[in-house]
Amino acid sequence: MLYADSHIHLQDYKTQDIKNIVNTAQKNGVFVFVNASSYPADWSKIAELAAEYPNIIPAFGIHPWYINDVPENWEQKLKQYLKKYPKAWVGECGIDRLKNPDIQAQIKVLLPQTELAKSLNRPLIIHSVKADDAMREIFEKLPQKTIFHSFTGSSEWGKQIQKYGFYIGLNFSILRKKNAIEIVKSLDSTQILLETDGPYQNLESRTETLPQNLPNLAEKIAQMLNITLSEFQSILQQNWQNFIGE
Ligand SMILES: [Zn+2]
Repeated sequence: MLYADSHIHLQDYKTQDIKNIVNTAQKNGVFVFVNASSYPADWSKIAELAAEYPNIIPAFGIHPWYINDVPENWEQKLKQYLKKYPKAWVGECGIDRLKNPDIQAQIKVLLPQTELAKSLNRPLIIHSVKADDAMREIFEKLPQKTIFHSFTGSSEWGKQIQKYGFYIGLNFSILRKKNAIEIVKSLDSTQILLETDGPYQNLESRTETLPQNLPNLAEKIAQMLNITLSEFQSILQQNWQNFIGE
């Protein structure tokens, strides 16, 4: 088994059946899925899927797009879910300036999540869009096991993230960048994980990305890094082990 999909939203697929998605992906070498939530209404479904599939790791959190729509006791509920699922990650959470210029409001919902991740020693998934400065200011508040998912930032920003020990999650969206090769080459390949962010982030618009396409993404990134696919696969497997600490 070769690939970890470090970020997917299985509960969001409209045209595909989850069982099919998981089975077909497994046949194509995907051995684990980190299933990310976006808001508290997702959490019960995320928990259900994790109970049903041993290779789905649940992630519980509040995405910055949905911070205005959370129940008052969300922190308590989040903690309960995390305690009930000892393998669960926190996320996705973060800051998105493109969607919402009110950074402070987003930080207010983000920080309790970073604190929970730290205190319970869980990996944290960060969604960061046009928010380099604001994120940099809270670097020290993030747990060591933090991944900046769906990275499409600059080489400079990527280096800063990795220098701090954090990981970078790449999906098909990086291939849309004009200077994708330059960005990918500038990254430390030992702190990269692949993801689909399915059903989102497909190269063709209005179709759903599937985790069975991860080998295809791996091949393209390996080419950019100027290494063979099997070399890249070993790097990815090692990275996964390092990141989850096994
Ligand atoms: Zn996502």
